[in-house]
Amino acid sequence: MPEINIAFDLDDTLVNMMSVFDDYLEAQHGRRMPESYDQFDISGPAQLTKKEIWFLFYQVFDDINRFPIYPGAREVLTKLYEITGEPPCILTARPHRKASETYALVKRLMKKTPFTLILQHPDMSKAGHLMAMGYGHYVDDRRKNVLDIARAGIHAFMPERCYNQIPADVIKASGNIGVIDGMTHFLPYLSQFATKKVIRHDLAA
Ligand SMILES: [Mg+2]
Repeated sequence: MPEINIAFDLDDTLVNMMSVFDDYLEAQHGRRMPESYDQFDISGPAQLTKKEIWFLFYQVFDDINRFPIYPGAREVLTKLYEITGEPPCILTARPHRKASETYALVKRLMKKTPFTLILQHPDMSKAGHLMAMGYGHYVDDRRKNVLDIARAGIHAFMPERCYNQIPADVIKASGNIGVIDGMTHFLPYLSQFATKKVIRHDLAA
């Protein structure tokens, strides 16, 4: 069991990838993403094919110095390390061929604080990785991941975005999902994630 009982998604959880994508979309296609859209698959709202989107994504992944870091992200991860002496874990579904760029971005986020970076295996779900490592909590902005992870019995925190709304009755029925406004949410509760006990859902979200 890890000393830190929470792990983190990278893009649009700790760093704002969509803002960089939006800049590339504007530079190369002359339009920005709509103000609001309701799906993680952005090919509709971006008016691009999946191939065109990945062409942009790969350029975005290379542009590591451009990524805004979400408020509280560095502080939460650094403090978890300070409390436990264990490097916090970031689990991302980014493509393995962008491993070096992904590492460099996380290094920029974490500065001198040690970290564990895991690139999700294509044949394994995020829930599978988290269960194998023994994590009880995970933070992810993608609705599908949050539902999968919650179903696997892991408490999922979801930073609220326009594209990831989950109906309130589904959240209530799950009992394992906490919708949060962002990484700063965790600052008052950090020591609770540094113990092995699973914290109560209503306490943290
Ligand atoms: Mg994400």
